[in-house]
Amino acid sequence: MNVQTCVFCKIIAGQIPCTKVYENDAVLAFLDIGPISDGHTLVVPKAHTPRVDKTDSHTMAALAQALPMLADAVQQAVGADGYNILCNNGLSAGQIVEHVHLHIVPRKKNDGLFNQWPSFQYPQGKAGAIAEKIIQNLNLSRVRP
Ligand code: AMP
Ligand code: ZN
Repeated sequence: MNVQTCVFCKIIAGQIPCTKVYENDAVLAFLDIGPISDGHTLVVPKAHTPRVDKTDSHTMAALAQALPMLADAVQQAVGADGYNILCNNGLSAGQIVEHVHLHIVPRKKNDGLFNQWPSFQYPQGKAGAIAEKIIQNLNLSRVRP
């Protein structure tokens, strides 16, 4: 998926309609066309970028900057008790549109969404080994100064 074929780039360019709720120089927020709860909103950067690990920290910062205001407005608009902020990255994680985006999913008590959280416990030593590999792979030069 590139800028020419990307559905979110088409929305940003005004070639496909959307139900816009907010826009600034760097980000656009609009209602998800296939919501999983009332008010389900997507927040996308205007610059095409496929997923978080391919995105510069300035772009991610622009998304984060808009998030508190948007989450508050979305939650209030639908009288939600809370919300999930989701970001699917890659096919295995359920990403369908390869233009990085945050889902704001308003939640209400006993709404039945995400009932399963399949947590488990690491066997002895495994958490430390994984953490060590993560640390080895950190590229600190990517962090915004
Ligand atoms: P993801 O699985 O994280 O890639 O989610 C992509 C989301 O984009 C889905 O929830 C879709 O319903 C939503 N979506 C796809 N096309 C449109 C569109 N034209 N307008 C609004 N939302 C869309
Ligand atoms: Zn795009």
